[in-house]
Order: sequence, then C-alpha cells, then structure tokens
Amino acid sequence: MPPVYSQTQLLIIGGGPGGYVAAIRAAQLGLKVTLVEGKRLGGTCLNVGCIPSKALIHAAEAFAQAREQAYGRSELGISVSSAQLDLSKTIAWKDGIVAKLTGGVGALLKKHGVTVVQGWAEVIDGKTVEITQPGAEAGDSPQRIQCEHLLLAAGSQEIELPFLPFGGGHGRVVSSTEALSFADVPQHLVVVGGGYIGLELGTVWRKLGAEVTVVEAQDRILPAYDADLVKPVAQSLTKLGIKLLTAHRVEGLNADGTALTVRDPQGALLELPADKILVAVGRKPRTSGWGLEHLMLDMAGRAVKVDAQCRTSMKNVWAIGDLTGEPLLAHRAMAQGELVAEVIAGHNRRFEPASIPAVCFTDPEIVVAGHTPASAEAEGAKHGFKVLQALFPFAANGRALSLEAPEGFVRVVARADNHFILGWQAVGAAVSELSAAFGLSLEMGARLEDVAHTIHSHPTLGEAVQEACLRALGQALHI
Ligand code: FAD
Ligand code: NAD
Repeated sequence: MPPVYSQTQLLIIGGGPGGYVAAIRAAQLGLKVTLVEGKRLGGTCLNVGCIPSKALIHAAEAFAQAREQAYGRSELGISVSSAQLDLSKTIAWKDGIVAKLTGGVGALLKKHGVTVVQGWAEVIDGKTVEITQPGAEAGDSPQRIQCEHLLLAAGSQEIELPFLPFGGGHGRVVSSTEALSFADVPQHLVVVGGGYIGLELGTVWRKLGAEVTVVEAQDRILPAYDADLVKPVAQSLTKLGIKLLTAHRVEGLNADGTALTVRDPQGALLELPADKILVAVGRKPRTSGWGLEHLMLDMAGRAVKVDAQCRTSMKNVWAIGDLTGEPLLAHRAMAQGELVAEVIAGHNRRFEPASIPAVCFTDPEIVVAGHTPASAEAEGAKHGFKVLQALFPFAANGRALSLEAPEGFVRVVARADNHFILGWQAVGAAVSELSAAFGLSLEMGARLEDVAHTIHSHPTLGEAVQEACLRALGQALHI
C-alpha cells in the first residue's frame, strides 16, 4: 500500500522533557506542531527516571524514620509500636504521581493545540518520518509525516554490560526501570555502578529493608564529584549499612546465575549472592533503531552534534536533550527545548548557560553549580586571576540543627580580585533546593557582596549560602 502523507511545520520525535517543552513553546509561538511519542508522554524523566525515583526516595526515608521510631531510636521522643511496609501501596502511590504528571503533560499539549501521535517514528529523510502506530496491521498504508523542521528529542537508554545482560541470571539482572517497581523488597540487592542511579536507588532499597552492596569500578563512589562533597555521602551510606566495594571489577554471573562475580583490587574473586542485580553504569544517547543513520549527521562521540542553537549538521534538523550528550539531565533538555522552539520561530537565542546545576539525591544530597575550586583554579591559571573559596558548615546553621541534619556544608568559589562568583557546591539534607539560589547568582553574574548583603530569611538553610559569602569576604558572623 502507498504511504499516506500528512504535513506539519515542526515535527518532534520524542515526548520527554526536551520534546514536550519544545512542543509547548513552539505552539505558543504560533507554529503548527506534531509530536510523536512511542511510549508515554513525559519520557524517561517522568515515567522511569527523575520523578518515580524521587518519590521512592521520599517513601523510603519515611519508612526508615518510622523504623527508627519503632526501635525506640528517635531522639525526638517519638515512638510507634511497629513499622510495617505495604510495598504494593508504596509503588501504587509512586505510580499515581507519575500518572498525574504524565496526564498533565498530555493536557498541556492539548491546550496548546499540539498534535500528539502515538507511535514509533522512523526517519526517512530530513523532512519525512514514517510512523508505526500500535495495532497497525501488515497491509495498512504506512503513515508518513512531512515537515519543514525536524526536531530530534529521542533521549537516552541505559548502558548494558555485555557480560551482564539485562534479564540474565533468571531475571535477576535489571535496569533502573525495573528497580523502580520491584514487587518485593529484595533480600540482597547488588548494585553495579556507584553513580547517580546506583546510589539513589541503592539507598531506597536499603531503607526499605534490603541488604545492599554497591560495586564501583573506580576507587571511589560518585567519581565525577569532588571528594569533600562525597565524604558525607559515603559515611552516611556506610552508617545505613550499605556495603561499598570500590575499585572492584565485575566479571559476570556465577555458574548458576545466582551471584555476581567480582574481582577485588588485589585480584581475588568474590561471589556476591543476589536476588536482584541493578546495573547502573551510565546511559547513552538513543541513536539507533529509528533511522537516524539515514541523515548521516555529524556526531560528537555517541551523541548528535549540535551548535549553540541546537542545530545539527543538516539544515532544519535540530536536536536536544540526552540525544545530544552530557550532561544527561532533564532541566538541560527542557532548557534546550524552550530555546530551540524560539530559534525555529525566528528568535535569536543561544544555549550558553552560566551553569547547569546538578543534584545527586542521595542522603545527604549533593548540589553543584558552576566551577569547583579545582576547575576555577585551572581557569584562573589560564586567565591570570586568583581564586577564593569559603565554606559554611550546616553544624552552625540553626535550621539544619532543627531538621536533625547538621552534616554537610555550602561552599562558594569566587575570583579573588573582583569577587565574581564562579561556582557553588553543597552537601546536606534538602540542599537540592539551594540549586535555585546557586543557579540564579551565577546567571546574574553576582559578586560575593551581592549574596552576602541580601537578607536571607531566618532560620533557613539558605542562610548558609549568605554566610559562605560573608566568610569569603572575611566577615563571617556565625562561625
Ligand atoms: P527522554 O526523557 O529519554 O525522552 C525521549 C522520549 O523519546 C521517550 O519517551 C522515548 O519513548 C521517545 N522516543 C525515542 N525514540 C522514539 C521514536 N523513534 N519514536 C517515537 N518516540 C521515541 N535527570 C535529572 O535532571 N534529575 C533527576 O533527578 C534524574 N533522575 C533520573 C533517574 C533515573 C532512574 C533515570 C534513568 C534518569 C534520571 N534523570 C534525571 C535523567 C533524565 O531522565 C533525562 O536527562 C531526561 O529524561 C532527558 O530528557 P529527553 O527529553 O532528552 O529524553
Ligand atoms: P553515572 O555515570 O552517574 O554512574 C555510573 C557509575 O558506574 C560510575 O561511577 C562508573 O564509574 C561506574 N561504572 C561504570 N562501569 C562500571 C563497571 N563495569 N563496574 C562497576 N562500575 C562501573 O550513571 P547512572 O547512575 O547510570 O546514571 C545515568 C545518568 O542518568 C547520569 O549520568 C545522569 O545524567 C542521569 N541521572 C541523573 C540523576 C540526577 O540528576 N539526580 C539521577 C539519576 C540519573
């Protein structure tokens, strides 16, 4: 059967944070927009990423607190007779949040007049995409959509280890997607990869009652973060009872597939029995299986190469989000989505953020924005300026103490000559919320005095942000 053609101005492949934000903004700007999504609106982030993981982190913490209270270990004088977990209810609650948010995305797209097509897109050429819709029969005419602009927002997928394929070990070996919906709390969970996912979800299942071992190839967990930030997290993981095996090499499954075989730094082989093995060794742009190769675009490693306006190497073909490489973060995908829609609509915008903050939702949390002391020193050496840094510990912050969270600190990094702020780092309970202040100060080009002389409400964790700047200026008040 010959294909049936329809036309649109902007065709977007992928309804994740990048694609759906681009669709909304483009529609606001008057473009006729069609968005094709193969699975569910909201993409990785809303369905099997940011949102469900953060919901489980919250639920696990609530259960861990209840258990402490049941064991009579609460310093607040609260006790309960016992703490019980109905995991099916926890998972249903998490799924309810996901459904609310993904339904909300659908409603927003509808409100803005975006045509949403459910189906898998295959790129035919830079202006034509063929859609395989669910339930299509072999004799049906293929549906093709032609467009003026093609926006690629196909996201990323988990990296599979060849010697530890997903589903191996009689279904033991899983990705983060399955680890967000286990039917039972595993007895022994082994996590391969001590990065974002491994530590966030490892902590969840430990707090819900599993024995958890994290196997990390590098000599420390969260190798991408600086050691001062990681130390309180490593201490807390150990206190929680999570076993951290750093500098260990994963070899595969044992003969009957019931344990993970790893080699320790001295070369000895260990077997780690596990009823679930979560492999979280990174994600990669989704570049195959949907005809991307037909476009022969320039690539940047495994990612689609884009310029500061999210243009690919082919005219009127654009790309955003995880497909375009690091950092693989939802807020970057959304920011690019908003920007590319404006560029396509004729506005003059460039993607040149002062920082893309990153948060690790461990316990305690880590947030970084802009330069670390080390990267600032390197910049200083290149451009001839000296660097100041100052740290304010939460142990001296009233709000942190009242939240039972005295661990951690806020650190500011600035130029010594003109006090221009170059970066922020924090580790502590709920510091993810400080990322807004950090991002804003960097984007606005704030100096230490701007933050130091801003009145911060008392008592809040934000006062540590102000105090870090006061300390950098030699004017610390509370330390
Ligand atoms: P995606 O969200 O991956 O969306 C791409 C969409 O395209 C998908 O829905 C897919 O089905 C669709 N698609 C792909 N190919 C086709 C095709 N051919 N036809 C039709 N549709 C197609 N980031 C954060 O910033 N904060 C966090 O806390 C965080 N937590 C995470 C936790 C986990 C467990 C995981 C896995 C990821 C997490 N991330 C987090 C990363 C975040 O999910 C991604 O950075 C973000 O989803 C990227 O958005 P995107 O739009 O580029 O791609
Ligand atoms: P990651 O890059 O954060 O961590 C992967 C870890 O696995 C690294 O520490 C790496 O050294 C280790 N590793 C690699 N190969 C290994 C091996 N063979 N054996 C043992 N360890 C090995 O990747 P991730 O945790 O899978 O997360 C993927 C991406 O998803 C992240 O990079 C991030 O962009 C995004 N994400 C973000 C958040 C957040 O923003 N809070 C949360 C989850 C995921």
